[in-house]
Amino acid sequence: MKKDYYEVLGISKNSTINEIKKAYRKLAIKYHPDKNLSDKNRAEEKFKEAAEAYEVLSNSEKRERYDKFGHSGIRGGSSSTSGMNMEDIFTNFGDIFSDAFGDNFTGFGFSKSNRNKKIKGSDLRIKVKLTLEEIYNGVEKKIKVKRLRVANGIKFKTCSSCNGTGQIVRITNTILGRMQTASQCYVCSGTGKNIKNIPYGANKYGLIKKEELVTIKIPRGLTEGIQLKIQEKGNDAPFNGISGDLIVLIKEIPHSNLKREGNNLHYDLYISFSDAILGASKEIPTINGKARIKIVSGTQSGKTLRLKNKGLPNIDGYGHGSLLIHINVWTPKKINEEQKKFFETMRKNDNFIPHPENLEKSFFDRVREMFS
Ligand SMILES: [Zn+2]
Repeated sequence: MKKDYYEVLGISKNSTINEIKKAYRKLAIKYHPDKNLSDKNRAEEKFKEAAEAYEVLSNSEKRERYDKFGHSGIRGGSSSTSGMNMEDIFTNFGDIFSDAFGDNFTGFGFSKSNRNKKIKGSDLRIKVKLTLEEIYNGVEKKIKVKRLRVANGIKFKTCSSCNGTGQIVRITNTILGRMQTASQCYVCSGTGKNIKNIPYGANKYGLIKKEELVTIKIPRGLTEGIQLKIQEKGNDAPFNGISGDLIVLIKEIPHSNLKREGNNLHYDLYISFSDAILGASKEIPTINGKARIKIVSGTQSGKTLRLKNKGLPNIDGYGHGSLLIHINVWTPKKINEEQKKFFETMRKNDNFIPHPENLEKSFFDRVREMFS
């Protein structure tokens, strides 16, 4: 006949979850096998009994079924803790003990040999300068990087301080009795390994600086200041851990005649008086070649032309910005007598006196339009 779970924990049927926890903790401490060395088997039995009761009563759903149907309501009368060993119990309910015994409490000295820490190597940072053309097309760069690598011929041995477990177990006397606590092995930093031989030129972790060509795929449309993370291309970790990452900071080399603003490109085009008055066809540079644009006769200085999809690609991969061509009418600084005469005549000509039409947008309207 199985004992009643409330009886096992010594609590009433309407106990709160906190009361259940408290009762269980008290029993766990009481039946701690280290405190019951003379009757270890009985203590372990009692401990398991309490754990089983706690496992059911601390779970509201299981508790409800237990209250209604008794032991037969819980998976045919047995609870999942019946098959558990002491270590499983501590793994599953460990948090309830941590405040009583401290975070490093491992239960009853069961080894945690398979929990060796994997050390991560440090990250490396480099800057990569890109031309606007490279930003437009995307590029694959091969860059020399000085990385710390695990030296050739290195051999490891099991750490003798912790026997390869990565932890040092200490027995301390507390008010609760003898306790085993585990802390990270300071000899091997928790890895469980030591270096058997340090090859020539390597540091005390068996790492050696090597220059390597790292291939970096740079996608289209990046902007100055973006960081790319190339996984595991940073420094190696000691003791065969995980390599750090290579962080690539993107820098932009200014273009000789195109200015970037987001995905848009700007180009300043200078035309002569004659071109503005008579109209012209002009070749302008673009990010991937050349384009020909038409200057209509009577073009005003300050006019902006927009070439759609001639800007930089959007970083999400869909579409491009525009190329905006700003028209400036070039005024010569020196003219000869003949030209002077010609323009003196034109100055008086009514057709040369500015009379902007109302429909023509002002410079400020155009700027506003461009940025909205
Ligand atoms: Zn160690």
